[in-house]
Amino acid sequence: MHIDTICVQGSYEPKSGEPRVIPIVQSTTYKYESSDAMGDLFDLKTNGYFYSRLQNPTCDYAAAKIAMLEGGVAGMLTGSGQAANFYAVFNIAQAGDHVVSSAAIYGGTFNLFNVTMRKLGIDFTFVSPFATKEEIQAAIRPNTKCIFGETISNPSLDIMDIETFAQVAHENGIPLIMDNTFATPINCRPFAFGCDIVTHSTTKYMEGHASTIGGAIVDSGNFDWMQNDKFPGLTTPDESYHGLTYAKDFGKAAYITKATVQLMRDLGSVQAPQNAFLLNVGLESLHLRMARHCENARKVAEYLKNNDKITWVKCAMLEGDDQYDRAKKYMPDGTCGVVSFGIKGGRKAATAFMDSLKLAAIVTHVADARTCCLHPASTTHRQLSDKELEECGVTPDLIRFSCGIENAEDIIADIQQALDKI
Ligand SMILES: *Cc1c(COP(=O)(O)O)cnc(C)c1O
Repeated sequence: MHIDTICVQGSYEPKSGEPRVIPIVQSTTYKYESSDAMGDLFDLKTNGYFYSRLQNPTCDYAAAKIAMLEGGVAGMLTGSGQAANFYAVFNIAQAGDHVVSSAAIYGGTFNLFNVTMRKLGIDFTFVSPFATKEEIQAAIRPNTKCIFGETISNPSLDIMDIETFAQVAHENGIPLIMDNTFATPINCRPFAFGCDIVTHSTTKYMEGHASTIGGAIVDSGNFDWMQNDKFPGLTTPDESYHGLTYAKDFGKAAYITKATVQLMRDLGSVQAPQNAFLLNVGLESLHLRMARHCENARKVAEYLKNNDKITWVKCAMLEGDDQYDRAKKYMPDGTCGVVSFGIKGGRKAATAFMDSLKLAAIVTHVADARTCCLHPASTTHRQLSDKELEECGVTPDLIRFSCGIENAEDIIADIQQALDKI
């Protein structure tokens, strides 16, 4: 099946007389004929549903569709993108371990790693998304358990060289985990370039309409956990499951099974079936929406580039952009709908411009059907001085502009009338 067809029909195949659309299974629990039948489920001897904190059919259909879109073997949903990234790393790293991460990642993920997961005893080293093989290798320690990065970083829009990071990871016997939220599998399939595990904030393009928070994790099934002794959680018996060894007993589904039956069991960041239903409705048009998001971003970036009130524009789909070649290699059909740019007059002009926008709304959200924008220096990053802003790649004049799926002429007309006022 082509990826467009998977978007519409992937994973759910109703039998004769069953609902055509994925049903919302609004039930916490599932009935069994005997205690023994249920006991087998608790022992993971048979597959089935028993409590919706662990698994729910609606969530499983959406997760399986995302796994198909990514070309992976198994997937799971989480309550948010934050939970997805936490589970993805915590599933293979524990107190005393170390992780190498790209420095160009979503602010929430940076905080999760740099503050909260450090409190759990996991250490992090941050490297540039443009680091050479040697520089990445220099950050690796004997206790490093994975490398993490974003295919297109939010908000700095850097495109990671997936193959280089994957090579270093594999030479050290560890997996590469990538957050593919901004590109989505429509534009980039990281497994084809050696990435092992993909995460998503489904809150963004996947659900696509800014109505539900959610996350997903997908395993490529390609990483061999048994190749070394770095992953005892997968390769030695789990006493909380009567001595099961995930990598032996679940084969290619080992990583997702462990994340489900251990982390979801104990931490419980589930996605609600109602939200999974809405996520699946979003997935059905993801291929159409991504094409329009990219087309609009390209047109908006072209317009901005030729406007003398604009000092700079960042969009890797623009010829001449410093990441144009990398974007062509990893996401030849387009990157995403987000463009960033600077306005003459810095911070003051940026806020004056944004306050004059009519169609584009000022919101913290990004990557949905409605055009929206954010001025990080006066909102998400307002506690930082201008000097600190420069250091984390967010200049005081930077506007993050997320092109929706409206008509590009209307988006550009809105930008035009707001620029005319400054
Ligand atoms: C928004 C976002 C997250 C966090 O996702 P939530 O669903 O808001 O928890 C993680 N990574 C990236 C790249 C994001 O854009």
